[in-house]
Amino acid sequence: MTPRRIELLGVPVDCVTMAQSVDFVADRIVSDGGCAAVVAVNPEKIMRARKDPALLQSLRRAALLIPDGIGAVWGARFLADAALDRVPGSELMPAICARAAENGRSVFLFGAQEDVNAMVADILPARFPGLRIAGRRNGYVDADAMPALVDEINQSGADVLFVALGSPRQEDWIDRHIGALRVKAVQGVGGTFDVIAGRVRRAPDLFLRLNLEWFYRLLREPKRVWRQRVLLFFVLAIIAERFKAKTG
Ligand code: UDP
Repeated sequence: MTPRRIELLGVPVDCVTMAQSVDFVADRIVSDGGCAAVVAVNPEKIMRARKDPALLQSLRRAALLIPDGIGAVWGARFLADAALDRVPGSELMPAICARAAENGRSVFLFGAQEDVNAMVADILPARFPGLRIAGRRNGYVDADAMPALVDEINQSGADVLFVALGSPRQEDWIDRHIGALRVKAVQGVGGTFDVIAGRVRRAPDLFLRLNLEWFYRLLREPKRVWRQRVLLFFVLAIIAERFKAKTG
């Protein structure tokens, strides 16, 4: 399945659901194609990509651009009348692991602090029996050691690589190394390893169900107000775009 790709403020995003995203990765694992990059798109990244040509290029080259949060979903529905659902990267990763476990596939874990990375390597096979951890490495690797790490990932025979370096570091890493990677899919997962290891808590269910995860984060970390002002700019830019489309 090739999902419909639309642009939000000049930044691409795919119209997919969680189930379609998992199927997409599962299909790529058994296909002869090269390595497929799965990258999350959210308002913060959209606004950054508009000013950062390298980030925009790396998004354009991704095989699957998931609508990571309610902002991207709202924008896509509002501007393009698109059929899609929230596909949070932090939920897609365990969903991919569940499918990989069913099919006896393996994953490589790259990123986060050493203790977090090691915990995730223990937790995932316990949570998804049958899942094989082909290898792991914390996210604090010197630039000159990268070629050896890419070799190690390839030698491990992993089917899927998860990269948890935060954004835009992980998008940059994926874009730089995808040509040399022999895994079938690579997903940038941000702070998800910290969530799995219990270092960072996601919002309670009620907030998630009401699409208010961003608001919960704001309550817990008021300092984020400065970071989240970008959400307001995003909403205003989307409304302006729609107005332009109507009058233009
Ligand atoms: N991280 C990493 N290597 C680095 C910088 C960050 O592995 O050089 C990891 C960090 O340990 C954390 C994740 O990337 O697990 C997300 O980092 P951060 O909170 O800085 O990113 P953000 O969530 O703000 O994108």
